[in-house]
Amino acid sequence: MKAIVIGGGIGGTCAAIALKRFGIETAVYEAVKEIKPVGAAISIWPNGVKCLNYLGMKDALRELGGQMRYMAYKEYQHGQTMTRFSMDPLIQSVGEQPYPVARAELQSMLLDTYGRDSVQFGKRVTHVEESADSVTAWFDDGTSATGDLLIAADGTHSIIRQHVLGFAPERRYAGYVNWNGLVDIDESIAPADQWTTFVGEGKRVSLMPVSGNRFYFFFDVPLPKGLLQDRATVREDLQRYFAGWAAPVQKLIGLINPETTNRVEIHDIDPFMQLVKGRIALLGDSGHSTTPDIGQGGCAAMEDAVVLANMLQTNSLGIEDALLRYQEKRADRVKDLVLKARKRCDVTHGKDMAVTGQWYEDLKQETGERILSGMCDTILGGPLE
Ligand code: FAD
Repeated sequence: MKAIVIGGGIGGTCAAIALKRFGIETAVYEAVKEIKPVGAAISIWPNGVKCLNYLGMKDALRELGGQMRYMAYKEYQHGQTMTRFSMDPLIQSVGEQPYPVARAELQSMLLDTYGRDSVQFGKRVTHVEESADSVTAWFDDGTSATGDLLIAADGTHSIIRQHVLGFAPERRYAGYVNWNGLVDIDESIAPADQWTTFVGEGKRVSLMPVSGNRFYFFFDVPLPKGLLQDRATVREDLQRYFAGWAAPVQKLIGLINPETTNRVEIHDIDPFMQLVKGRIALLGDSGHSTTPDIGQGGCAAMEDAVVLANMLQTNSLGIEDALLRYQEKRADRVKDLVLKARKRCDVTHGKDMAVTGQWYEDLKQETGERILSGMCDTILGGPLE
């Protein structure tokens, strides 16, 4: 059996690693010459960590992951703690810890695990064709590749999605802009072992530790779509949006490197239940594009990869049957993740300021139990115990 994998991001590489482990021949085709992820880092929650463990990356991931022992919310003007609690109860109940990691390092780990030389870069798929017993991807350089099945891990702007669904669903602007990057840890901004988030005015400033004594930071601001963006004014823009915020936030803005700070307008796509057509499977953001509000998009791609490989390995009624079983296992799960993230997005980003204000009040009463129990439900919905 030969699988053609389109896209060498988190989803494509995880799928290729998973299939290869079962002895399935794979070939990965990636559009760009060099992958430059949209975000500086990513939090891999225990459901995603378990998938990477399962795929043989347990030790490598630990080298890259930051130690996030506590979680805290702070009020925006004075930086007073609204709630702070240990993540340990979560870790104890799900059996694994979360790992925030720098994206470039995660991408390298995935490529090294799969075999960097086995990825063909600069191969952009333009269209796909299916026959009764094979599927062919055509690239913009006029070449093609044929396999027994095709995994479309071509991301949120997927062109293969339209082939599978028969229509092209619109991406939906979630109403806020996210700036993210990495800075050296400075404990006068936040503790090194804590996920710290300052909240107010429907905005967020968040810091998570990653390896190498660095914080992954992000700033969220509700804004109209399509504003002019200019790297030279990143710092000034953030100073304006966060005027009057507490001293640690001002310090963080002073420390960021505008050259390496990403600016992303956050989108998602209404969930759809069809993830496969014949011998083609959508995987990762091509099959479910979510806002990053519960940090599950990449984790869901890892889950997809594990489930898809297991379906191909454990069933013997043919490829199309195995893909339908993958769809059956995944469609509700990913729909749930997209809608949970959308709900959280609206609450945290002031879609209705009365609701957001109530959330701020609730945070002051939070012991950790409610937040960790919500996280636990999300994590335990994954495919690995
Ligand atoms: P991608 O990573 O987008 O990879 C798709 C690949 O396909 C790319 O390399 C692209 O070049 C290639 N490609 C595209 N078109 C073609 C084509 N026609 N032919 C060949 N190749 C093609 N998730 C989490 O789990 N935790 C987080 O904390 C988190 N934080 C996030 C923060 C932000 C700001 C954002 C925007 C997202 C975040 N996510 C997070 C989501 C996560 O980044 C995505 O869900 C994940 O990257 C999806 O992986 P993917 O492989 O499906 O897509």
